[in-house]
Amino acid sequence: MIQIPGLDEYIAQYPVYEYRIISTDNLPVEPRVRTVCQQECERYGTTWACPPGVGELDECEQFCHTYPRGVFFSTVAEVRDVLDMEEMLRTRSAHEEITDQINQYMSEKGLETFVLSTESCEICEECAYPKGPCRFPDQMHPCLEAYGIVVPEIVEREKMEYYLGGNTVLWFSLILFRSQ
Ligand code: SF4
Repeated sequence: MIQIPGLDEYIAQYPVYEYRIISTDNLPVEPRVRTVCQQECERYGTTWACPPGVGELDECEQFCHTYPRGVFFSTVAEVRDVLDMEEMLRTRSAHEEITDQINQYMSEKGLETFVLSTESCEICEECAYPKGPCRFPDQMHPCLEAYGIVVPEIVEREKMEYYLGGNTVLWFSLILFRSQ
């Protein structure tokens, strides 16, 4: 497995549950993931971080392949009630913060990165979509599902955990990277 110098030690300071460095060669991408976005997410079609604003699925897949590898990781959060969606979603910001920190670390190691995480972008109070271009394209992270990525399939392939039981939540990000 390719190593990123110091990543193990750096990641250890955060509640990262597991991580793997994966190849993008056989990234599982399926249109059905986007169908779920369209049918079940109120953010669909409202930001540049969501479909269809992120671009056609095949464009997104090809873009991912311009990065040969990615750091795929999960963080764990505890909630009072795992069925309380609002409470669960509140724990997402901590995951996003960790994603930003790891991304920054990788950039400082000289890697060119692109982040896919859990967000539909909430940087601006009102998204510029669709009238104007994204105001912060370097800071905005589309979510994995917007790119059609089948997260459970990566989890299974990599022999990672998808659910820990009890009142815990696992959040996932993929930081694609390449040498500059
Ligand atoms: S940074 Fe602003 S304009 Fe860009 S996707 Fe996020 S909310 Fe929309």
